[in-house]
Amino acid sequence: MIKAIKGTRDIFSPEVEKWQFAERMMRRVCALYGYEEVRTPLFEATELFARGIGEATDIVTKQMYTFKDGSEHSLTLRPEATASLVRAFVEHGMDNEPGITKWYCMGPMFRYETPQKGRYRQFSQWDVEVLATENPAVDAEVIELLMRFLDSVGVQDTQLQLNSVGCPVCRPQYTAVLQQELRKNKDRLCVDCQVRIERNPLRVLDCKVESDQSLIDALPAIDDYLCEDCKTHFAAVQRFLGLSEISFDRNKRLVRGLDYYTKTTFEVVVGGLGAQNSVAGGGRYDLLVEELGGKPTKAIGFALGMDRLVLAMPESSSEISGIRVLIIAMSDNSFDYAFEKVQLPLRNANIPCELDYQRRSLKGAMRLADKRKVDWVVIAGDDEVSEQKVTLKNMKNGEQARYSIEEMIEKVR
Ligand code: ATP
Ligand code: MG
Repeated sequence: MIKAIKGTRDIFSPEVEKWQFAERMMRRVCALYGYEEVRTPLFEATELFARGIGEATDIVTKQMYTFKDGSEHSLTLRPEATASLVRAFVEHGMDNEPGITKWYCMGPMFRYETPQKGRYRQFSQWDVEVLATENPAVDAEVIELLMRFLDSVGVQDTQLQLNSVGCPVCRPQYTAVLQQELRKNKDRLCVDCQVRIERNPLRVLDCKVESDQSLIDALPAIDDYLCEDCKTHFAAVQRFLGLSEISFDRNKRLVRGLDYYTKTTFEVVVGGLGAQNSVAGGGRYDLLVEELGGKPTKAIGFALGMDRLVLAMPESSSEISGIRVLIIAMSDNSFDYAFEKVQLPLRNANIPCELDYQRRSLKGAMRLADKRKVDWVVIAGDDEVSEQKVTLKNMKNGEQARYSIEEMIEKVR
């Protein structure tokens, strides 16, 4: 037997109806805020991700699905969407146009990591980006959009964490101080952090190893080092969040480990998800467009993990699916009648219905109707055929009567 690849999975009903509901609400909230969908390729030149995500990150060093195609080009399955969207933005010359670009995209991402609950090798993200503005009100807008969406799909127990990671003007001083402090305690840190001290000290703040925590908590916070511009921006973001009545927790350790990230960073964690409790994360990336060959363009965005989202959604947040009417034919003669004169008109009227092709007994068909939770059963026997009518049974209250096809469709509708 050939099996699905480790870390990938098939999604069936009833879970798939939760996905459909979530996707519909994503499109709806994006329309409400004026964001347009973009669909980019699932694979890109490897170099795009190496530069766009950062050579020193976990994603690029160990999580990418990279392969050579028939022309010996190094290609990579996208591990995230921002780099692709920025590539599209630059490739189509949008960095030369005035105005703001508001985009979203959704679909599968690929990362080679250890599969566990809420962590897969193929997973899906919903990505929201705003390019070409540094207005702090936009930072608040994308967060508001995200929180409104989470509310609309019934996800509760959400916590928004907020931080600022500064900019190239002020961050170097802060990382220098961090480095100094960390070097003093190098031996007490985990091996990964010992490497991070020299390569990317900011990343130490992100460490999840238990024994490192007390030391990290005692490190100086970035607040005292933010430049005037970053301070003003961060204060304004908080003020706009206040106007939108969005509460947040300040998490001074929330960093996005890349050099291109600047100023605002945020993350939403949800209770009850266990270790993989981070549902969405985002921030400003004022330097990335330039890094990928475009004109200096300030931008902000977030990515939400749809697999984790669905785990956090209540059962009731689900697209309604399934058939509403089961049609039962009692004889060969009435089967043709049910096929042509009952099923077809119901579908023409956009009413989801199904004819029992297995030709069960009336009792067996009723059991099926119960199991499928249909609202109505239509019975067609020889008497119904000769009268050109059907028997309609209401499965909610058990009432049953004979109607013409038109009357039956009216009742069901
Ligand atoms: P984590 O710390 O959980 O690995 P991350 O920092 O790698 O997350 P991002 O790259 O910021 O995550 O992606 C945004 C969101 O995508 C995450 O908050 C999460 O919900 C989801 N996500 C990331 N990796 C996976 C995965 N392997 N499987 C399922 N969802 C994922
Ligand atoms: Mg990760």
